[in-house]
Amino acid sequence: MEEKRKIVEGLFELSEGLSEAGYLVGSRCKKCQTVSYPKRVICPNCLEDREIEVTRLSQVGRLYSYSINRMAPEGFTAPYITGRVDLPEHVRIFSVITGCEPDEDALQIGMEMALVFEPLRQDAAGNDLYSYKFKPLKNG
Ligand SMILES: [Zn+2]
Repeated sequence: MEEKRKIVEGLFELSEGLSEAGYLVGSRCKKCQTVSYPKRVICPNCLEDREIEVTRLSQVGRLYSYSINRMAPEGFTAPYITGRVDLPEHVRIFSVITGCEPDEDALQIGMEMALVFEPLRQDAAGNDLYSYKFKPLKNG
């Protein structure tokens, strides 16, 4: 099985199976329990730099805000949705939103969103590059 290619290293881990099986990689300060994403070497809350551990973030959060983008950068197709999702660890993740139509009726602030991993764009050789995205949980 060919390995899935990540769009960037260090932010998440992929599973070769289900698109839902990967996870975001954050860091947790063992002193004050602050979680950071992306992972950090120094705690942004208490400045601890020795007691930092890598942690898997939750795979379900709540939609904090979103916008429908009518203009697309190279490699994207407009319209598409981006948003911010709050996770139980008190981190806010900026993400492409998938699994719904790009119109205002498809999303509500505060709704549950589930983490998925899908191709975001292709590299110069035409290989899919995978990234994390969030989709409405109730849409299945
Ligand atoms: Zn800390």
